[in-house]
Amino acid sequence: MTDDPTPGTRCRACGGAAGTVVLDLGEQPPWDRMPARDAPLPDPAAPLRMWLCAGCGLAQLQTDAAVAEELHGVEPLAMTEQSDRSVGRLARAGLVRPGGRVAEFGSPHGGSWLPRLTGRGMVALDADAVSAAGRADLVVDFYGLLHEPDQADALARRVALLAPGGTLALQLLSLGTVLRDDQWFDLRHGHYGYWSLPALDAALRRHGLGVHRAWWYPLSGGTVLVTARAGAEPDAGTRRLVDEERALAVTEPSGFARLQAAADDTHLLLDWLVAERAAGRTVAAYGAASRAVPLVCRAGLDASLLAAVGDASPAKQGHRMPGSDVPVVSPDELAGLHPDRVLLFLPELLDEVRAALPQVEASGGRWVVLGPGPRAVEPVSALSGC
Ligand SMILES: [Zn+2]
Repeated sequence: MTDDPTPGTRCRACGGAAGTVVLDLGEQPPWDRMPARDAPLPDPAAPLRMWLCAGCGLAQLQTDAAVAEELHGVEPLAMTEQSDRSVGRLARAGLVRPGGRVAEFGSPHGGSWLPRLTGRGMVALDADAVSAAGRADLVVDFYGLLHEPDQADALARRVALLAPGGTLALQLLSLGTVLRDDQWFDLRHGHYGYWSLPALDAALRRHGLGVHRAWWYPLSGGTVLVTARAGAEPDAGTRRLVDEERALAVTEPSGFARLQAAADDTHLLLDWLVAERAAGRTVAAYGAASRAVPLVCRAGLDASLLAAVGDASPAKQGHRMPGSDVPVVSPDELAGLHPDRVLLFLPELLDEVRAALPQVEASGGRWVVLGPGPRAVEPVSALSGC
């Protein structure tokens, strides 16, 4: 943890100037722009730091770097299923009513809830053209808020769309998850706000709302669906989630020390890859996901250590990892390399990719996960005792 190296930082939510840099990943390229495979290195990069406001407790991106247009990858099935679950949850909470009006603040990564909500009879309003006469009973935000550089303005715009008695529903990665699971790689250019439940409740109260209910889901390690409305107080289950986050010191610099330590553990990956290369083994990886970008850059990986990254998204194939010469290839091309080890950047996909690429293990290769150092996964045949 260091004192603020950028004088003049102002909190995106409360405007306060006092705060601390709690995570510093150094210079990082944009994570959402996969350069063409033959594009010359080095890629543009900018400092990537998380700053914690001492006034309101919002963890946030310290600097605004130019962010290129977003790559719309294949929306993972897990994301689609989460949207189904969240909309179902809102319906069971009585917030999705036929004829009710809904406005959405979407994410640039896609994944709208509107088809699900209008499918249940709600009337969609255009969030950019809502008049006082036509405000929304329900305003939904699926990973939209974090993309707003001015978090205070963003919250104000969401609240302004609410009809009297209306509900704001936000789905976001909770900062408690980031801290509990050492998810330092979730700090990204273009993702400005990293909300904890305590900080979010305090911010919403400044805008006249209060957190009412929060539900936790295991997507991405732990995502929360939060509802807020005027005058609300958290129910018992929600207070428990808030207390769990407070216990992680989500609004105190001390809660972030392990995050920096985890980011510094990337040398374990580099050391392992150097040893694998020395042993004559070919290592590839799977999942050219956003979270893999800072890992590859921070560990200093290149194609001599990591032959390729396989990914099912055609939009990424033919490109290379940002900040590195490691190519992104199709799953078939990955299998064609006959890798001895395949490092899985998305451990929750293990069962899925293992079933999709049986050639890897059939030809003697092993899947490897990180936690924090690399660990080979026993082949299926060993598990089943065959
Ligand atoms: Zn603040």
